[in-house]
Amino acid sequence: MALVVTKYGGSSVATPDHIKKIAQRLVERKHTGDDVVVIVSAMGNSTDELLDLADEITDHPNERELDMLLTTGEQVTIALLAMAIQDLDQKAISFTGLQVGIVTDSAHNKAKILAIDADCVKKALENGHIVIIAGFQGVTSSGEITTLGRGGSDTTAIAIAAAIAADVCDINTDVNGVYTADPNVVEDARKIDTISSEEMLEMAASGAGVLSMRSVEYARNHGVTIHCRNSFTDEPGTIVTGEETDMEQAIVSAVTHDTNDAKITIRGVEDRPGIAATLFGALADENVNVDMVIQNISEEGLTDISFTVPHEDLSRAQAAVVAVKDEIGARTWVLDEDVAKISIIGAGMRTHPGVTSQMFRALADEGINIDLISTSPIRLSCIIALEDAPKAVRVLHKAFELEQE
Ligand code: ASP
Ligand code: MG
Repeated sequence: MALVVTKYGGSSVATPDHIKKIAQRLVERKHTGDDVVVIVSAMGNSTDELLDLADEITDHPNERELDMLLTTGEQVTIALLAMAIQDLDQKAISFTGLQVGIVTDSAHNKAKILAIDADCVKKALENGHIVIIAGFQGVTSSGEITTLGRGGSDTTAIAIAAAIAADVCDINTDVNGVYTADPNVVEDARKIDTISSEEMLEMAASGAGVLSMRSVEYARNHGVTIHCRNSFTDEPGTIVTGEETDMEQAIVSAVTHDTNDAKITIRGVEDRPGIAATLFGALADENVNVDMVIQNISEEGLTDISFTVPHEDLSRAQAAVVAVKDEIGARTWVLDEDVAKISIIGAGMRTHPGVTSQMFRALADEGINIDLISTSPIRLSCIIALEDAPKAVRVLHKAFELEQE
């Protein structure tokens, strides 16, 4: 018998039929003797539909009222799911974020969880209920309703799992788990059975969309084991754990790609102290999330600086560059939106220095040009041309023999 938290996203509860199917699965799980807490998102695209409604009213919706609006999406799902479970003669009860005491800071639309009371969850479990909790929402200490940012239901699930010391937190999705590469790109990509949370964090940060960085980070910090699995099958998925395993660590565990970055190059800036500080200070002031940075060696006192930013930050990044370009003495600057970031991730890279050259060699053999490089102790990333991305992923997957167990 285990205490499980299990989370279903919008696509898994998109219709009444979906909800009935999930109810059936939850009841079966309860019958195996497990205590079950389920976190759900709003049905299908209903969060987007609510946003569209607000958009029809105003261009500048009040953030507090937006949270009042968006939290209704999850409230619909929890009530319907409770009814569906009760219809199968199983006790179930639904709670909003406020009712379970998910206390957040007061940053509307992007609140952070500060504390969870969870007393009512424990009581309801003791009384034999399946407990259903609305994802994505919380409440400030002064009683204001908040949301956790898009995709926040994962974070709710992990936070609840931590608060009630659940044995595992299932994140159910429309894929079978975490793969060695995007299966849409690499035919023989393999489902990973177990991966460390530090590797998963690097994967999430470098383009693997299956789990959000924020939820993996929360899980790592609170010692929650994630089971990432398919909503509608019983097949085991991928276990993401912070625990040390005795297994020898794979040198490379996965290849990821991210096509959401753009590259800005500033040409002919003076090579003297303060230039980078001015430029990146301006970017920070615009809240731009800079990823990779490279500065060339200077010729005749002038140098080039390139950096990448996510597309959603691009217009703010351009504004920042325009604002400081004269101050830093830049001659010109160019924008390249057609780039991709290719990364290899593996905890064993720490102790295997040859991996870098192997990656570069594999790309070179296919005539793929590397633009920028960045590293962490367990990740190596290259910026390449967007059009080369699928080929690069396949080449690296093969070079590191990821198709093999
Ligand atoms: N319904 C919210 C969203 O669409 C939260 C979530 O799905 O995790 O962003
Ligand atoms: Mg969603």
